Amino acid sequence: KEKLEFVKNHIDSYPDFPKPGILFRDLFSVLRNPRAFHALQDVMIEHVSSQLTPKPEVIVALDSRGFLLGPLLALHFHIPFIPIRKRGKLPGDVTRVSFALEYGTDIFEIQSLSLGSGQNVLIVDDLLATGGSLNAACQLVNQLQATVLECLVIMELVYLKGRDNVKAPVHSLIQF
Ligand code: 5GP
Repeated sequence: KEKLEFVKNHIDSYPDFPKPGILFRDLFSVLRNPRAFHALQDVMIEHVSSQLTPKPEVIVALDSRGFLLGPLLALHFHIPFIPIRKRGKLPGDVTRVSFALEYGTDIFEIQSLSLGSGQNVLIVDDLLATGGSLNAACQLVNQLQATVLECLVIMELVYLKGRDNVKAPVHSLIQF
């Protein structure tokens, strides 16, 4: 729990970014400090090792800050790392899902060959806000007949109740 406090103390907050009224929580201020980054890695690994059963067979992470976190787990546990990206970025046959944004819609894609039917997946991202992104990620995993064990985020904006919009268990390390 000391490690978690140490990480939390290294998260900088920026009022009115990227828009007025938004208090932006910056993951990069953690990564800038090697001890804080290492503590974050330790906390993530400890969570998966001691609190998650069954064990994940695949790590799926969201574009773009999830890409900085997912590989830490994939390499440690010797399991595949699979990206979810915005439309048009992934080559080959892709599976897609469209989801609502505050204004308009967006599309996420995953490479169709990247997950096997029945595989247990851990989805990783930096922050849970409304839950729209994580829920779309869950839908993609399910479209490939795989199972979402859990969505793991570093930070959760609890007052937005985003976890209610995600049809899979959500675990957050730090709550705001
Ligand atoms: P949601 O779909 O839950 O509304 O938004 C979550 C996505 O928006 C995440 O991929 C996350 O990276 C990004 N996001 C939203 N607000 C913040 C924030 O304050 N800090 C960071 N680092 N990312 C945010």
